[in-house]
Amino acid sequence: MANTMQAAVVEHFGQPLVIRDIPLPIPGPGQILVKTEACGVCHTDLHAAHGDWPVKPSLPFVPGHEGIGLVAAIGPGVTEVTLGERVGVPWLYSACGHCEHCLAAWETVCASAEFGGYTKNGGFAQYILADPKYVAHIPAGLAASAAAPIICAGVTSYKGIKETKAKPGEWLAVSGIGGLGHLAVQYGKAMGLRICAIDIDDNKLEHARRLGAEVLVNARNSDAIEKMRAATGGGAHGVLITAPSLGAFHQGVAMTRKRGTCVLVGLPPGEFPTPLFDVVANCITIRGSFVGTRQDMAEALAFAAAGKVKADIELQPLSAINDVFERLQRGDVPSRVVLDFS
Ligand code: NAD
Ligand code: ZN
Ligand code: ZN
Repeated sequence: MANTMQAAVVEHFGQPLVIRDIPLPIPGPGQILVKTEACGVCHTDLHAAHGDWPVKPSLPFVPGHEGIGLVAAIGPGVTEVTLGERVGVPWLYSACGHCEHCLAAWETVCASAEFGGYTKNGGFAQYILADPKYVAHIPAGLAASAAAPIICAGVTSYKGIKETKAKPGEWLAVSGIGGLGHLAVQYGKAMGLRICAIDIDDNKLEHARRLGAEVLVNARNSDAIEKMRAATGGGAHGVLITAPSLGAFHQGVAMTRKRGTCVLVGLPPGEFPTPLFDVVANCITIRGSFVGTRQDMAEALAFAAAGKVKADIELQPLSAINDVFERLQRGDVPSRVVLDFS
């Protein structure tokens, strides 16, 4: 093994990533080194590289939290994985394991959690240092490039849908049919829900229709809310907002059925107005949802391994990352770009 590796590095917020060689990490006690095969590009990577959120990563850093690869080296004391095993290094990079949230199997909100491609270097690199207690175990038969979008976009969508508490036969509205949303449509279908898809791009809506959505709503139409409420007989029981746009949040709450739940997963910077009277009088629940636990991850991957959900991917080399980021910013990525390291 060489002692350097190629990586795409954020050196300054809002500037193009720099592709350069950085030192190859050596796994210490309780750590592993993963040789990257594929890494999805999530809109979160764009927020990270722009420094969009209140808690920013320290510069320089390597983004990427949909990295899949083979265990290439194991540090002392590691028992959870074996050499050559295929694993994913997700957003939830590690957690403390013993706080009240970890003990309740809510490790995603652990105050000591580290985040892949954010507080720890991620998958836009030939190798990734990982915590074997928190890696995703990729089922046999699922290719690295197919698994990559599942370990963030997939698990986040799946967990978010569970958090709506919508039951089979009820309506799920998915706002934003991009990387997360095109998988949310498929998870929702597989979970027995009826799907209403919302986007600002008619091509994305057409894609949702092909994936099984029954109601399509272009969010830019002035009567989008009324049409959606009429088509679903009073709004969706569960609404999942993946759109990285504040306008979608106000609209999503207005599309929630009485006693329904609106789950927020999109993370554009800022705040959105909430119509207090409607939320109170209609007994609507608004809740946040953040990726998924390791158990959610195993379940989300099982859907993919069983062929019930399949990410639509476009393969690109690491060298194309700045072009991919520009397209993602413009809404010009049909579903998910996966960086191919093979
Ligand atoms: P993406 O760019 O692939 O998809 C976004 C989609 O939203 C696009 O299809 C776009 O056309 C659509 N859109 C834009 N404005 C809209 C509007 N006003 N109404 C409806 N649709 C609109 O992004 P992605 O990778 O799917 O990520 C989406 C968001 O989810 C990002 O903000 C990301 O940071 C966040 N995210 C959150 C979590 C979490 O754990 N909560 C996990 C992953 C990603
Ligand atoms: Zn992500
Ligand atoms: Zn903890």
